[in-house]
Amino acid sequence: MIRAVRIILAAALAASVITTTGAAAPEPVERGVLRLHYVQKPIGYERYEIVPDRDGLTLTSDFDFTDRGGRVQLAATLRMAADLTPRAFKATGKSYRFVNVDSDVRIEGRDAIVKADGAESRVTLTTPFYTVDGYAPFAAQMMLLRYWKQHGQPRVIRTVPGLPSNEVFIEPRGREAIRIGATVVRLERYAIDGVVWGRETVWLDEHGALAAAITRAGGLSFEAVREDLEPALVGFVQRATRDRIADLEGITRQTSPLKSGTYAMTGATIVDGTGAPPLRDGVIVVRDGRIADVGARAAVAIPPGMAQVAVDGKTIVPGLWDMHTHVTQVEWAPVYLAAGVTTVRDMGNEFEFLTPLRDAIASKRALGPRIVAAGLIDGGGPNAFGVYYAATVDEAKQAVAKYHDAGFQQIKIYSLVTPPIVEAICAEAHRLGMTVTGHIPNGMTIEQAAAAGMDHIAHLGIRGEAGSEEVDKTIAFLREHKTVIDPTQSWNELLGHAAGTPIAAFQPGILKVPAPLNRVFSNAGAAGIDAAAARTRLERGLRIVKALHDAGVPIVAGTDEGVPGHSLHREIELYVEAGLTPMEALQAATIVPARAMKMDAELGTIERGKRADMVVLNANPLESIRNIRRVRWTITDGRVYDAPALWQSVRFQP
Ligand SMILES: [Zn+2]
Repeated sequence: MIRAVRIILAAALAASVITTTGAAAPEPVERGVLRLHYVQKPIGYERYEIVPDRDGLTLTSDFDFTDRGGRVQLAATLRMAADLTPRAFKATGKSYRFVNVDSDVRIEGRDAIVKADGAESRVTLTTPFYTVDGYAPFAAQMMLLRYWKQHGQPRVIRTVPGLPSNEVFIEPRGREAIRIGATVVRLERYAIDGVVWGRETVWLDEHGALAAAITRAGGLSFEAVREDLEPALVGFVQRATRDRIADLEGITRQTSPLKSGTYAMTGATIVDGTGAPPLRDGVIVVRDGRIADVGARAAVAIPPGMAQVAVDGKTIVPGLWDMHTHVTQVEWAPVYLAAGVTTVRDMGNEFEFLTPLRDAIASKRALGPRIVAAGLIDGGGPNAFGVYYAATVDEAKQAVAKYHDAGFQQIKIYSLVTPPIVEAICAEAHRLGMTVTGHIPNGMTIEQAAAAGMDHIAHLGIRGEAGSEEVDKTIAFLREHKTVIDPTQSWNELLGHAAGTPIAAFQPGILKVPAPLNRVFSNAGAAGIDAAAARTRLERGLRIVKALHDAGVPIVAGTDEGVPGHSLHREIELYVEAGLTPMEALQAATIVPARAMKMDAELGTIERGKRADMVVLNANPLESIRNIRRVRWTITDGRVYDAPALWQSVRFQP
């Protein structure tokens, strides 16, 4: 292992002007090396240095990692005045597999000339401001923190690029001492909100140098830790998790339910999700988190004195499920409820984050969707994903046991697990009453994966054309094995759309996301294909979805994240484009997932005795599936939440 090289040649650090003598190139006043991790797996480095120039400082950073075999590199330069005010910022490369970064910001007087992704704009700045474009490089966030400290800790700092400028909030979260062997390192901890969507945690040492940072990339946990502090990685994750859950508890206190306990909702059209026709002018009686009664107004007796909520003109459907999520930040919790999603299946996460979050929601300390968890296991080696591996039968048993003991319902198999270990994982999971989902492992076909015991398959995983003999055979095989498929078509559409097609053309939700998320998605999309080719590819997938559905293979709606909340609505819309009826598409996000997870006795439809998980829509989705986006209130375990307030709690437009 390479020793940490962080040299502070001048105690003055960034704050003061450093003059150099002679014509020799100035020496760096500071250098740092951060080890980068993806879901705790070490994958690369960021190296930075700060060099004085005539009247300021220049930071350069080289950010470089390899994730599952794919190289990601970003080169960045930040020029600052002596008081750390940015003068120019340039970042080129990628910050994640599908996130291209090409930003060039020049400060001219009170304006910023912003070149980002091929477009140029002039933004008039108000102070305080900073230049930063996403979480990478971390050294730029370190300088942002120093700037904030040196400029009186302003409540808000506007940043560019952003639309037209983004707001960042910094909050000190405390001091701590970390023991590494015999050394005690004193650190200050900060929450930064707005560089990415949601909050990051960043630690600075006594010299103001970056010690560690926890953020998200591509939706999953991404950690940077100075090499000498590497043994404290999990401790950093746990500390950040406690902060985030406290933040979510804060959101929960500010967004209290409009109604809970016992009440009757009257006057709505009820689409109960069983397939029965809509019931007009219906009544639902909710008592202590459950549906105590449901039916036509004349058929349901409302006890005298019971609180009534008139919801005339609205349509009530069962709470939605997202069957492919990675809930790696607490901001997802209000978003999901705002979108009408009351249950999610998490398909791979940081263990130390997911379990306390799930428990905080289950105990009602924090609002959010019910979380059903699938624990990810990969096959190990340099290209593996995450930190839970199984290369032997014993390791398979241990990994399954760890997840089982922590209350996970399912195992998610990842791409590098070998065929005999797939069988071992499935056998052990089934023995413990769990089910198994996942990617089709490399070198296996979908039939082999299902035959080895995988109960569900993530993503579509079927090549060829619907209607061909080969695909028909595959579909018949999956039906026989009762295999459940989450085809994530909205994810394919989002990443596979032609780069020239605006996302808003198929996903209007993109117009409502906070600026940093918009930055990320505006750079997604496939280069080198046109809109027609992208559409052809998507339609092939939709024809397979329809063929699977017609054959009786359960289709469950999942997003793999995408545009938070909105992608689930898009997934449901795409099933209708595929040829499912609006009722069938709705069921793919309600009762079919509940059955697939063996939770249909409690969830999935609006029926007497079930949990009161429901969505009150402004319009009927059976008339137009787009109405699924028009969520007014979401009811989870009988508590009624106002959707616009939930969206706004995490900086989305309602
Ligand atoms: Zn996924």
